[in-house]
Amino acid sequence: MKRLSILFFLTYCTFAANSQKISISLFNSQKNQTFVITPVSGSYSIIAGDKTIPLSLNQIVYISRSGDSIKVRDMVSNLGTWPRVSIIGQTDKDVIRMNSVVPSMPARVYDDNLTFYVDFDRLMTLNIIDLDKYIAGVVDAEAGPNAQPEFYKAQALLARTYALGHADKHMGEGFNLCDEVHCQAYKGKSIRNEKILKATIDTKGMVIVDEEKNLIVGAFHANCGGQTANSGDVWLTSHSYLTSVFDSYCKGLPSSQWEVRVPMEEWVNFLKSKGVNTSDLTAENYLFVPKERMYEYKINGITIPTGEIRSFFKLRSSFFSIDAVSNSIRIKGRGYGHGVGLCQDGAMQMAKRGKSYPDILHHYFKDVRIINYFETIEQDSSILYIDGNVASH
Ligand SMILES: [Zn+2]
Ligand SMILES: [Zn+2]
Repeated sequence: MKRLSILFFLTYCTFAANSQKISISLFNSQKNQTFVITPVSGSYSIIAGDKTIPLSLNQIVYISRSGDSIKVRDMVSNLGTWPRVSIIGQTDKDVIRMNSVVPSMPARVYDDNLTFYVDFDRLMTLNIIDLDKYIAGVVDAEAGPNAQPEFYKAQALLARTYALGHADKHMGEGFNLCDEVHCQAYKGKSIRNEKILKATIDTKGMVIVDEEKNLIVGAFHANCGGQTANSGDVWLTSHSYLTSVFDSYCKGLPSSQWEVRVPMEEWVNFLKSKGVNTSDLTAENYLFVPKERMYEYKINGITIPTGEIRSFFKLRSSFFSIDAVSNSIRIKGRGYGHGVGLCQDGAMQMAKRGKSYPDILHHYFKDVRIINYFETIEQDSSILYIDGNVASH
């Protein structure tokens, strides 16, 4: 293992407040062989071994895995092969386009720095990026492009709360977070709406904590269908701030109602697989019309969690009613997603109606506080930036 894992424990101080960095492993479950990179703004150099090679804007550079090393070439010649290659920006507006050519994938655009090396039998690609630019990228990937600033601020706090609470999630692999839903979806620079980066910077350092000042689990989903879910009923863990609330804001929106038909034979087979004696069931036995969110469907003495019905039939949510119609089962549902925490459709409506981001967060998360992480929480080991290349920073 050639990995050099070096941990930086950044302690808070005034001059460091604007320079928190985080390392994100890009294309984390892919086996990329070759990238084309092109600086599109700012000023970049390649730093490899003891060499510094300046790059011009729009210059095309190929980065390939060659055994356990990284081979670099441009359109004219080979530039060299090194165990580790970093593409380092020198301004605060450094943006680089990266295109995986083997395998072929759509181009993405990243802020700040990239580092390449081989580990875990793959071409590791780390984006070493300013924390707020990363948060904006996550909000861009996880929220729609046309929302209000207060909605983006609420999402930025959720993304920041997650990032700071899980900065050690991939520590053993040499980086902070991956770019997939395992951590938080991140597809590069926020480009869809400039309000997103502004909302992130306007809420710099702000996170959500519970009554004991622990960073919360900032769960969110697309649409709760009018009532959010208790985390303890959906997942294994319950949290006092992730309890069900009624939500009038998301009602009547496109994703708040849906309907699915399941052929009766398929439904009966499903029930049998759960141990239900189906021999004498009538249409009335199937009937399930909860007024509020229910977590269990009871039939003929057997209890089936609604979450299991959701996952088996790939339903949009586990908030539904059931009845038998001719030779099928009709499932009429509400909402989209697991239903825990912030409802994105409801939160967008709140922002449209002039609610602030604290109003939005306090509506969905009970008894939480919004604080500045860097001013309030003891720093020692809580923020860390992991990357092997000390020299370049
Ligand atoms: Zn991850
Ligand atoms: Zn809702």
